[in-house]
Amino acid sequence: MKDPIRYINSGYRFFDTHAHLYDERFAQEGIRPEDILRNASDAGVQRILIPADSLETSLSAVSFVKAYDGCSGVALYCSVGVHPHEASSWNDDVRDGLLELIRDRTANKIRAIGEIGLDYHYDFSPRDVQRKVFEEQLLMAYELDMPIILHEREAAGDSMDILRRLYKAGKLRGNVGVCHCCSASPEIAMELVRMGFYIGFDGPITFKNNKNTPAVCASVPLERIVIETDSPYLTPVPDRGLINEPCYVPFVLEKIAQIKEITTGEAADAVMRNSLSLYEITEG
Ligand SMILES: [Zn+2]
Repeated sequence: MKDPIRYINSGYRFFDTHAHLYDERFAQEGIRPEDILRNASDAGVQRILIPADSLETSLSAVSFVKAYDGCSGVALYCSVGVHPHEASSWNDDVRDGLLELIRDRTANKIRAIGEIGLDYHYDFSPRDVQRKVFEEQLLMAYELDMPIILHEREAAGDSMDILRRLYKAGKLRGNVGVCHCCSASPEIAMELVRMGFYIGFDGPITFKNNKNTPAVCASVPLERIVIETDSPYLTPVPDRGLINEPCYVPFVLEKIAQIKEITTGEAADAVMRNSLSLYEITEG
């Protein structure tokens, strides 16, 4: 295995808005949470949000934050929710389990509901179940006044139908949330922005054969862009193929700065501001 390429930080600050740090792949590769957070801190990553995809990983995300928040000076946050892959697991007990965690949302540092959405690429849960569970969690987020983390893959038509309907009914809050790892067309991405979404970019924006994501990034206003790694997956160039960690998120930011033709510092400042507003973080 080749040696990882380390990001040389010149003082910029980053927020990885999406990293599954409880994923068992890290332990399998002998990478400890302390290592991940030290590497992140060395690269200037000061904040990380850990998203969930089931009740089980919601509990994992909350415990990870409890155990490691502040380690190497990195502030941790999390989200809770049921991913479209896990939609079949949805029932009243799961919903109550999530609500139980959210009841202590300040102490648990829960900043969003997610990942929720539709995934017609894998179809791990039947599509009608995915749609029902997505809509229920959208309404739950609205009732609880929390932003969402949207996962949408090859399901833009149905996702947009649901979102447009709730938007028109006044059931989406002003800061709806983030379209994570956005693979939509530039037109759909702009419609999401008009609905109040931030757009999340990660490793794929750096992949040579990917023409759509840079086009989306070029058309979306800088004020609506956030960066993420989706660790442990989707490692950006130059280390595509290695296990992904938050310390790689600056490579995503560099690519965005290039596309927007601005300096790394300008991009870093704007994207940090956006990430704090997305997750409604006001402290320090
Ligand atoms: Zn994810």
